[in-house]
Formats: sequence, structure tokens, C-alpha cells
Amino acid sequence: MLKAADILDSETEKWAKLLTSEMGKTYKSAIAEVEKCALVCRHYADHAENIMQDEIIETEASKSYVKHLPIGVVLAVMPWNFPFWQVFRFAAPALMAGNVGLLKHASNVPGSALAIEEIFNRAGFEKGCFQTLLIGSEKVEAILKDDRVRAATLTGSEPAGRSVAATCGSEIKTTVLELGGSDAFIVMPSADMELAIDKAVTGRTMNNGQSCIAAKRFIIHADIYNEFRDKMVARFENLKVGDPMDDDTDIGPLAVKQIRDELDEQVTASIKAGAALLCGGNIPQGKGYFYTPTVLDDIPENAPAFSEELFGPVASLYKVESLEDAIKLANATRFGLGSAIMTQDEKEMEIAFRDLDAGSTFVNSNVASDPRLPFGGVKSSGYGRELSSDGLLEFVNRKTISIN
Ligand code: NAP
Repeated sequence: MLKAADILDSETEKWAKLLTSEMGKTYKSAIAEVEKCALVCRHYADHAENIMQDEIIETEASKSYVKHLPIGVVLAVMPWNFPFWQVFRFAAPALMAGNVGLLKHASNVPGSALAIEEIFNRAGFEKGCFQTLLIGSEKVEAILKDDRVRAATLTGSEPAGRSVAATCGSEIKTTVLELGGSDAFIVMPSADMELAIDKAVTGRTMNNGQSCIAAKRFIIHADIYNEFRDKMVARFENLKVGDPMDDDTDIGPLAVKQIRDELDEQVTASIKAGAALLCGGNIPQGKGYFYTPTVLDDIPENAPAFSEELFGPVASLYKVESLEDAIKLANATRFGLGSAIMTQDEKEMEIAFRDLDAGSTFVNSNVASDPRLPFGGVKSSGYGRELSSDGLLEFVNRKTISIN
């Protein structure tokens, strides 16, 4: 695993170029993604042995404990938005636990899928320990039904998650699902306004707006709403959209035409339903699947922007009179991945921790994944956890031993 980290670190630029050319993320963000993959490999190389240790539990037996054993072959069905990171955050703990990984990657990133297999092979893993299957999604069911496959993890959309979970349910096989999100970003009057704007802009536009944990719904207290809205719009109008290989580009193209067209349809339908368009809202002329950074407000409940995930650089703003209303609105979605609150008030923080129905709450920061912290959602955002010790323990047999 440490050798895999070395290969990532010593050839960062080569892998980053592959990511940018396959799905359009900015080159600088691709570099950061590859570096984070090396980090997660090192994290589990350092910590897996400790996590896998026997867990002694005192009983009347002369010795009793939980022994951690690998579960076997795990199928990972992965998305294109972070083509390396999504896979490494599964593979590093799963392989360190002694499992075998099969990868069915998204169909538009086959180069990344093969590159990851190459990295593990070159690092010295036994042939077959990590295998890429270049297959379409219609082949997944048969693989899940194969007796040799013991579990599955899927990161992607709700329909894909439902399908894999249904098959695994009928086969009594473990699943971890990391699905979509429509994360709330609450800003209260005590917040540092400049910090809030900075985090809001980077949160909504990172990865060209195609991140599950991006802040997508900005829920702003009425006392500071106008200031926040005007500053957000000004920043969005100044974002540079263009060639993802250029250093000063903020937003590259969306990954495929369908994503761009679906986003445009959601924005158009939201405006038709009564939402106000504050900037953007169009497809720029010329080559590439670009979308102009967009801000919407006055969004009615029947607008797609209210209830659906917008997978691109579109921010939805909401004005509320109290923290209670902010939390109610934040929870008024079938998703529950991450959530963020900008405030200096500790009482407000405690209320947010208790009442926001999501897999995480970040204060004065964007939601971010970290190898040391568990990551995952509730409700339609999925179940199970990745990263930290939780992520590794999802795919082990926690076997009870009792010596009498
Ligand atoms: P997607 O269409 O669901 O694809 C994800 C993966 O699932 C791909 O490998 C895809 O294969 C496969 N797939 C699609 N339908 C399937 C089915 N019925 N059975 C088995 N496999 C199937 O999602 P996406 O458009 O690539 O990714 C965007 C979505 O992922 C967003 O909703 C985003 O929020 C979510 N996401 C969540 C997280 C998280 O950690 N929670 C992270 C990143 C992204 P093909 O490409 O061959 O169709």
C-alpha cells in the first residue's frame, strides 16, 4: 500500500492529466485528488493493523474476543466525478483488511479504471487482488449473484443504489451505499461574512459543481440575506469558466453532455415555476459542455431546484427568519449526506448538531472527506460509512471467539 502511495506521489502529474482529460475537472484539483489518494493509502498502511486487532471482551469464558477476518471479494461500483478518490477510499481499507477488490467504474472513465489496477499491480499486490472490469451496468447484477462475491459498495445515484441494494438484499449480501446529496449551508448573523462567502463559492463550484458533498442549498438568516446574496452573485459573475488545464480557470466543463443538459433543464424548469434568476442560467456558445455559474433565489417548493440534486455550478439561496426555520428547510429533502453551519454561537452549533438530519455537520467550513473521519449519509443519501476505522470494518467478518 505504501508503494501504491509512492507511485501516486511520484507520477502525480501523469495521473492528474488523465483525470482532467477524462472528465474535465481542473488540473489543479486533479493534482489535489491524486495527492489525497496517496494520503488515504498511507493512512491505512499505518492504521489497518491496529484496527484489525482482536477486541478482547471479558465474559465468564476463559477468553472471549472479536477477531477480524477479511470477508472476501467485494465489488465496487463507482462514479466518474472523483475517478481516483472514490476508488482509493474504498480500495485502501478493503485491501488492507485482506479483501479482494473488483471495480466496475463509470463508463466514461475507463482510463482511470485501468490506471488504478495498474497502480496496485505495480505496487506489488498479488495479481487479481484488485481487478478492473470494463463492463456496462447491465452486467452488475450477474456479478453480485456470483457466490464468490461477498459484498458490494456503490457510490453514485439513487437509482443505481436501489438496484444494487435490491440485488444484494435478495442475495443476503452486505452493501455500503454513498448516494446523492443536496447539502444545506446555513449562515447565521454571527457568521464571519467574508469566510462564509469564500466557503460558499468554493463549496458550490469545486469539481465544476459535481460533488456529492457540495454545499447546494444556501439557507441565510434574513438579517444578513441581502448582503450575502449580493456578494455571492458578484463572486459567481467573476468566476473564470474555461480550459480546465489553465491555472487560472475556476470552473471547467461538465463531464458529459447529458449532465449539462439535465442541469439546464432543472434551472429552466425552476425559473418557470417562479424562481428568480440572479445570474447565469445559460449554456455558453462554443465547444465543450460548459455551464455559466448560476444563482437562484425565491425558489418555490414545486421547483426542481427545491427538491432535486443540482449537479453543476448552480447555487440555490433561501431566506429564513430563525435557526429553527433554517433547520426545517435543511431537512426538507429526501437526502441527508452532509450539512454546514456558519456561526459563532455555541448554542446554535449544539442545536444544529442535534437537529440537522445528515451524516455530518461541519461548522465554519465546507463538508469534506478525511481519511481519519467516518464519511456517509442518512435517508436517501445511503447507509454505511467509508474511511476511518468504520470504513475498514464494513468489509470484515467480526467473528466472535469464545474459549471455555
Ligand atoms: P450513476 O449514474 O449512478 O453511476 C455510478 C455508477 O453506477 C457507475 O459506475 C454506473 O455505471 C453504475 N450504475 C448506474 N446504474 C446502475 C445500475 N442500475 N446497476 C448497477 N450499476 C449502475 O451516478 P453518476 O452520474 O456517475 O454520479 C453522480 C451521482 O453520484 C450523484 O448523485 C452524486 O451525488 C453521487 N455521488 C455520491 C457520492 C457520495 O460519497 N455520497 C460521491 C460522489 C458522487 P455506468 O457509468 O456504466 O452507467
